[in-house]
Amino acid sequence: EREKLKRLRSAPAATLDGTVIQLHANIELPSDIEAVRSSGATGVGLFRSEFLFMNRRDLPGEDEQFEAYREVVEGMKGMPVTLRTLDIGADKQLDSEEHRVAVNPALGLRAIRYCLAEPQVFNTQLRAILRASRYGKVMILVPMLSSSAEVTQSLLAVAAAKEQLRDEKVKFDEYIPVGGMIEVPAAAIALPMFIRKLDFISVGTNDLIQYTLAIDRTDDAVAHLYDPLHPAILSLLSSVIRTAHQHEKPVAVCGEMAGDVDLTRLLLGFGLRHFSMHPAHVLSVKQRVLNTSLPDIAPIVARILKTDEPDKTQALLEKLNA
Ligand code: PEP
Ligand code: MG
Repeated sequence: EREKLKRLRSAPAATLDGTVIQLHANIELPSDIEAVRSSGATGVGLFRSEFLFMNRRDLPGEDEQFEAYREVVEGMKGMPVTLRTLDIGADKQLDSEEHRVAVNPALGLRAIRYCLAEPQVFNTQLRAILRASRYGKVMILVPMLSSSAEVTQSLLAVAAAKEQLRDEKVKFDEYIPVGGMIEVPAAAIALPMFIRKLDFISVGTNDLIQYTLAIDRTDDAVAHLYDPLHPAILSLLSSVIRTAHQHEKPVAVCGEMAGDVDLTRLLLGFGLRHFSMHPAHVLSVKQRVLNTSLPDIAPIVARILKTDEPDKTQALLEKLNA
């Protein structure tokens, strides 16, 4: 049994019909790398860098961030590391910001909005990421985009940080890919209009569900209404994946949906080929991928996309997973 598990861990993830699927892991701190390596994940699909900034009074400086990023990049030994820029605000507050709690933090100065409002904080982080990029395969991921203008401003900030490092003769990966998170409905809907500016996209379903269904993801009183299978969510998700394919851009899902083995076939049916999840889920998702035939699931997935009755969706999902 242990031998079997070990073999499964190192086996490539591919469907029965031979389609290769990338399974990456989500991390919060460099110390999570050990779990990633033993999970069988072939990369870090989401490094939630804000955890380096939390539970302390001051902000980590450029060198401290650089050391943390380098540790992850070197620990992954050449495997890709998707480093998300600071996603502070809402459910992840800075201690030093406590004095100005927003009226509605989830709709406030969060993530990329915060970084564009605090260009010095953003620049420090981008410089640290760029410096770490020479030690492996690093990608930059920008959270909570809601407009094309934010994409442009983020890319300008990356270009400015690169220019500074060039002037200082500091080495970095000139071709570092820059991707965007799709987690605000406006970004999902307007994606065809700005996707060409990005090298890849990653769908944050945790926030996409929160903002699409108007359900605070931290409020227990409405937790029963938080529904990944809501037709609006499934329709947005499948359209985002389709848009990415049409524009030949890599697309991943890195929200909790990607680690839910009951949803693996549904996402595969939407055309998803890249999943990033908590390391604990990688093996079971891989097992599901290994015993899935894409041609077999296609008709059921098509029916799920046309259903708006929760009972029917549930019944079809059970059929899909049978
Ligand atoms: C998400 O929103 O789905 C996501 C992956 O980001 P976080 O959970 O850190 O907001
Ligand atoms: Mg999010």
